[in-house]
Amino acid sequence: MSGPNDGEGHAGVGAPEPGVPGILDAEGVVFLGPGTMEIAPYRVDPPGPGEVRIRMAASGVCHSDLHVLDGDWTRPAPTVMGHEGAGWVESVGPNPGTNGPRVGDFVVLAWTAPCGRCASCRRAEGWLCLSPAGSGHRLRPADVRIRRPDGSALGAYSGIGTLGSVQVVAADAAIRVDPRTDPAVAALIGCAITTGVGAVTRTARVRPGESVAVIGLGGVGLAAVLGARLAGARRIVAIDRLAAKLDRAIELGATDAIVAAASPAATAAAVRSLLADGGTLGTADGVDHAFETSMSGVETAVAVVRPGGTTVLVGMPAQGARVGLDVYAFVESGARILASNYGSAVPAEIFPEIARHAVKGSLPVERLIEARIGLADVPSAFDALRRGDGARRVVIFPIP
Ligand SMILES: [Zn+2]
Ligand SMILES: [Zn+2]
Repeated sequence: MSGPNDGEGHAGVGAPEPGVPGILDAEGVVFLGPGTMEIAPYRVDPPGPGEVRIRMAASGVCHSDLHVLDGDWTRPAPTVMGHEGAGWVESVGPNPGTNGPRVGDFVVLAWTAPCGRCASCRRAEGWLCLSPAGSGHRLRPADVRIRRPDGSALGAYSGIGTLGSVQVVAADAAIRVDPRTDPAVAALIGCAITTGVGAVTRTARVRPGESVAVIGLGGVGLAAVLGARLAGARRIVAIDRLAAKLDRAIELGATDAIVAAASPAATAAAVRSLLADGGTLGTADGVDHAFETSMSGVETAVAVVRPGGTTVLVGMPAQGARVGLDVYAFVESGARILASNYGSAVPAEIFPEIARHAVKGSLPVERLIEARIGLADVPSAFDALRRGDGARRVVIFPIP
């Protein structure tokens, strides 16, 4: 059952010594049902075929976790929460493939591990995979690898449960990245950064010189600002309802930042006057692309684009949320609305690419981090998310 341990010195800073695969003790944030969670110990089985066991280095606290906790999204319990994390491969299941992760690798975990065989995967749209590895939150009896001390099964949210100190995940969900990547940054690559950057560079395919508006300046919105900068956008207008969030967007590369006005039309008017002020030829009628990451700004995101422009919906609100649209005006505008899931990106391609930017310093991704916290601070991090307070809070796990 021992995984390969070739001692090649994958030099992850602080990488723990690989051990013999046995049952490991761990601790994590366990979702118990809407409105309830606990920080509790659990036990982790060795990885099975096609699986690896991860010692988590860091995990972000994402709004999607809050949706689960608050009952906006129906998810099973009990489940170790978290879907935005990075860590070291501690052991590898039997018969690993030649290209899979090896013991000691530093990996970012993907909350969708494309199967490679379904209709979506065959269209090279792995983010829409119909049967990703580790789906069902690993609660099917054959998939259970973590248990309470009394032996009862625990799930792992999205197959990776990154708010737990150790997890068994599908080998395909563990994407090797440059081990010099700051673990907190690497964790955010697993969800917020890929979602925001990919929405700009892959879903919308923003081109150099175009103009962009980003509505909502949480982790994903700030990452969309980074993506717009990466794409060479000339104007990047950051919009939030909280003035306190504007400065960070400017630091990350937004050219303009404004507080959302009282109505979508008023916000759109403010954006148009900003663009006109800049004297940018042909853009005073709206931005080329708008990215909605706030979950409540869809009408604004439609209103701020120019005729023929693109609105990209990125933020995921409560299940069942609906939106109104002036159909006549929309059709007349010749505009487009696109949906972006996981940045329209394949994790194995985009994770290493973003990590390279982070290591080189060509994308200031570390500025998305509001605070580095411990597991015990997760409840207050959820409170901060509810208030819309600050950027990303990232749990740093102690090295055993
Ligand atoms: Zn997320
Ligand atoms: Zn698939």
